Amino acid sequence: MTASQPGDTGAFTLDSRLSGALGGRTAQAIQRAFGYTTVGELLAHYPRRYAARGELTALAALPLDENVTIVAEVLEVRERTMRSRRGSILEAKISDGTGILTLTFFNQAWRARDLKPGVRGMFAGKVGDYRGARQLAHPDYELFTDADAATAGDAEAMRWARAPIPIYPATSTISSWQFAASIALVLDGLGPVDDPLPDSVRAQRSLLAHRDALERVHRPEADEDWKAARRTLRFTEAFVLQTALLERRAESRAHHAEPRVPAPGGLLERFERALPFTLTGDQLAVGAEIADDLAASVPMNRLVQGEVGSGKTVVALRAMLAVAESGGQSALLAPTEVLAAQHLRSIARMLGPELSAELIPTLVTGQLPAAERRKALLRVAAGQSRIVVGTHALLGDTVSFADLGLVVVDEQHRFGVEQREALRLKGRHPPVLVLTATPIPRTVAMTVFGDLDVSTIRELPAGRAGIESFVVPLADRPGWRARVWERLAEELALGRQGFIVCPAIEPRVEEDDGEGLEQSDADAAPGAPPAASVASVLAELTGHPRFAGARVAPLHGRMSADEKDRTMRAFAAGELDVLVATTVIEVGVDVPNASVMVVVDADRFGVSQLHQLRGRVGRGSVPGLCLLVTHAEEGSLARQRVEAVASTLDGFELARIDLELRQEGDVLGASQSGGRSSLKLLRAARDGDLIADARELAAGLLAVDPGLARHPALRAAVRRRLDAEASEFLSKG
Ligand code: ADP
Ligand code: MG
Repeated sequence: MTASQPGDTGAFTLDSRLSGALGGRTAQAIQRAFGYTTVGELLAHYPRRYAARGELTALAALPLDENVTIVAEVLEVRERTMRSRRGSILEAKISDGTGILTLTFFNQAWRARDLKPGVRGMFAGKVGDYRGARQLAHPDYELFTDADAATAGDAEAMRWARAPIPIYPATSTISSWQFAASIALVLDGLGPVDDPLPDSVRAQRSLLAHRDALERVHRPEADEDWKAARRTLRFTEAFVLQTALLERRAESRAHHAEPRVPAPGGLLERFERALPFTLTGDQLAVGAEIADDLAASVPMNRLVQGEVGSGKTVVALRAMLAVAESGGQSALLAPTEVLAAQHLRSIARMLGPELSAELIPTLVTGQLPAAERRKALLRVAAGQSRIVVGTHALLGDTVSFADLGLVVVDEQHRFGVEQREALRLKGRHPPVLVLTATPIPRTVAMTVFGDLDVSTIRELPAGRAGIESFVVPLADRPGWRARVWERLAEELALGRQGFIVCPAIEPRVEEDDGEGLEQSDADAAPGAPPAASVASVLAELTGHPRFAGARVAPLHGRMSADEKDRTMRAFAAGELDVLVATTVIEVGVDVPNASVMVVVDADRFGVSQLHQLRGRVGRGSVPGLCLLVTHAEEGSLARQRVEAVASTLDGFELARIDLELRQEGDVLGASQSGGRSSLKLLRAARDGDLIADARELAAGLLAVDPGLARHPALRAAVRRRLDAEASEFLSKG
């Protein structure tokens, strides 16, 4: 017998190709829908929930346009001929006791033979709307044939009725039970599976063997099965992830770094002497941590988190100067063109003319004119420019450095680890400094940035006048809308400036191209008016008598980099009074005279996004005012999010509230939702203790077996995880 014959018992391993394990077409459909190519990846497609065979799923609140799987009973079936065209429609009504749903099939009268009244089954499809009633057109279904149960003995029948039905994340091309069937096939053919968890850890934490956990999560006989299985798989996920992160950390620390120690009378000292303000205690403390890192021969890998306006840029700039002293170059990676340009301006300003002339801060973005870009790249390659600021364009092949000595990444949550690495590879393992204004709870930091050391700036520079925040609840008080514009006008009359942030660029049209909305409409309250847009607000202000003399301009992602930059500059110079913008102004934009931030349809933004937006005002000596305008009903989750932001200025507290309100939360940003390397059962919000526990155990294991030589199954699991991450990065281009 050859072990490689697919279908043979014991033929598959977790690394077997799906195309060999399943039919080619099924394997292809699964790959297209979820990107899985191996048996292990398919087996890590865990059920989203479990339905009971006897339990009927709630039909009362079916979300329109979503792919659903429901368990229901057929009530009646009738066939009618169509008047307009030739053919027939078969209509079946199904019910779960809470509601009734119609299934329709065109020219498939034969289905009446299956769909008899009283028959129960699972039905899947996209929920449509026909004349105000919910329906599924051509749903996929699987009927529960009680045959097995009827012919089996009583005990068997009981077990059959008790077995939970796994419901898998599915798409319109591959249904939940196609997953169940494929997974059953793969499980039947799966050979022995080595446990990624060391036996000692498994025993200490009373967890199942890996093979057993896979079996029970996919084919539970009772609820206790999948619960125990999930507990094991969740812990395993945390353990493998932490092992990968700790290894990555050890790996990056294994390289040699050139120690950078600033000399007396050098660039750094000259810079500090000219600085127009004194650094805060936290800025000094974090600066000292960074200086220690830079002076060591182990490459720095540090995350600096600090509130908006806490002065992270100066901290980073001091690190750049320390590196520049010995001729090294620093690259600052910013998430948007606006921010890159602003960073360059403020760095040049802080350096002053003399140091600027020496260090030649240079901008590299995708939208530079070709000639300018060529010149910039030459200066970078020749090592003349010792401070280079740019967007992701910095990662491109055409960019090379003479001596890249420091990588600074601003607002890390927009970049993946891979991008950080791509830039790092342009030097010889240069130190990395990551800046983020999104306060990250410790457990999330451990999950996402587990390979970094973390420094925190909590203190804001003195002399900030503070920000007052208010919710403007239009659902209860529609009249307050006028009052918002009034308040804005009052501030302008005092010589101050304001921002109005909208969720969309243009009013939503029927065929939305998806670009207008910065965030999806999906979680908007039902029945809420369409999202306010830059265009509609602009039109409203233009026609408003109170803004007759005001200089108002738009700022959004569809403008060219040049236009955006010009607008931002004009605003910063006080030549514009109001910017009507999308979230392009979200991070880092700095205009001390701006005092009002109006966010329209604030419920369409996330908690941390709102907090960031609010941080745009109250940055100078004028007090800030933040008005969060919303149609969300009192008590709704959307309204709670907005109210949370108004209730506190403490970003760490907000991050905590955000995690709580999100429950299933996508704290890791896009990378957590979907995709092969994303988290499956683990939730940073909920599983903090478990993650900390797993990290400690993983660290203990790596301390005695750094190469995992004695834990081959764990090493394989770590490699699988990193491979998935890498290929995901590649597929993003
Ligand atoms: P962020 O942490 O949001 O990136 P910035 O570095 O942009 O903050 O700093 C915000 C503003 O505060 C800038 O105008 C900066 O020059 C100023 N600033 C930074 N540190 C101090 C300080 N210690 N005292 C006074 N102003 C400061
Ligand atoms: Mg900043």
